Amino acid sequence: MSSTHVLPQPTGPTPLEERLINLIEENGPISVGDYMADALGHPQHGYYISQDPFGKDGDFTTSPDISQVFGELIGAWLIESWQAMGAPSLFNLVELGPGRGTLMSDILRIGRLRPAFLDAARVFMVETSGRLRVQQQRTLDNTHPALSWVDHIEDVPLGPTLIVANEFFDCLPIRQFVRTAEKSDEPWRERLVGVNRDGDEARLCFTLSKQTYPDRPGMPNGSAPEAIYEECEAGQKFIEEIAPRLKDYKSRMLIIDYGHGRSAFGDTFQAVRRHQAWHPLASPGHADITAHVDFAALARTARAQELRVDGPVHQGDFLTRLGLVQRVEKLMQVRAEDKVKGLVKSGAERLVDPGGMGKLFKVMSISSPSLDMPPGFE
Ligand code: SAH
Repeated sequence: MSSTHVLPQPTGPTPLEERLINLIEENGPISVGDYMADALGHPQHGYYISQDPFGKDGDFTTSPDISQVFGELIGAWLIESWQAMGAPSLFNLVELGPGRGTLMSDILRIGRLRPAFLDAARVFMVETSGRLRVQQQRTLDNTHPALSWVDHIEDVPLGPTLIVANEFFDCLPIRQFVRTAEKSDEPWRERLVGVNRDGDEARLCFTLSKQTYPDRPGMPNGSAPEAIYEECEAGQKFIEEIAPRLKDYKSRMLIIDYGHGRSAFGDTFQAVRRHQAWHPLASPGHADITAHVDFAALARTARAQELRVDGPVHQGDFLTRLGLVQRVEKLMQVRAEDKVKGLVKSGAERLVDPGGMGKLFKVMSISSPSLDMPPGFE
């Protein structure tokens, strides 16, 4: 006998939540960063390892999938940067965290306008998720003869390098510090992830460290009581790691992400699932978790390494300066159908919308000290 009843969706803890609850009950609370690293990157249950994050049927959509214009303009920016580097006959073209591979595919298509750029490029996709690598391979099949995947940027050979990172730094683990005392030399405690148990029912919850901390380096002055300060050591370490490359070989990096241009207080630890805001401690492994990027902290790290920093500027201004309007007009001329024309226009408008992505997203470039200001930052 068959039944047509729709079964209720299971709402219990995810496998990763169960694992974390056991771990925390045995060893004590963990940092927000350790939680984030596991929720996103756990080799079996991590979000990027086990789920299909992108697009209408996934949890969120990123700029390259909103409009091809995004990748095309960035492709043109990379070609200009390659020229500014002296058009080396061999260079590394690196993307960090390439998602579905759409951005690189659009970059390589625009690259065909400058065959010497494509000939000189060795393309490296820095991706830790095996599942996403397969998607990227599908997207990029037969697009470039020298295309490979690596786990870490250190696996990319030394030499002139162009790096692009869209929505990569926002998924690096952060630590959060909460102000708990007004008048004290050590007014901060770390926000941790603990367990709230009621009989058989256990859920993850926020808790505070017993240990107290003095003001953190880079913190702005004058925090309100209960202020939260976020620190992304992994992001800063990443800049420190690539700094010697950017110094020794004419090279440039482009970072695009949502975040703030000045270090500030605030809780930006957030999750999204099925295109809706989600509690960051609910369903670890089944939701995307991010934090806003502190561009000022990245810029400080880069300047301390004697690198050139341009920006951050708003994504809307950056793409407009690179010629978004003209590119959209051109695309509309070659597309006959009104419906497609409408989509081309609305997608591009979303990228530069001052009430949305155009301002929330920032763009920053880090270059070898000998290079001049790149396009888009005038
Ligand atoms: N840049 C893409 C996707 C952003 S989502 C876009 O714009 O659409 C984040 C991406 O970074 C995913 O591909 C994820 O698997 C990858 N990622 C996350 N942490 C990483 C790490 N530490 N090293 C390499 N890739 C990572």
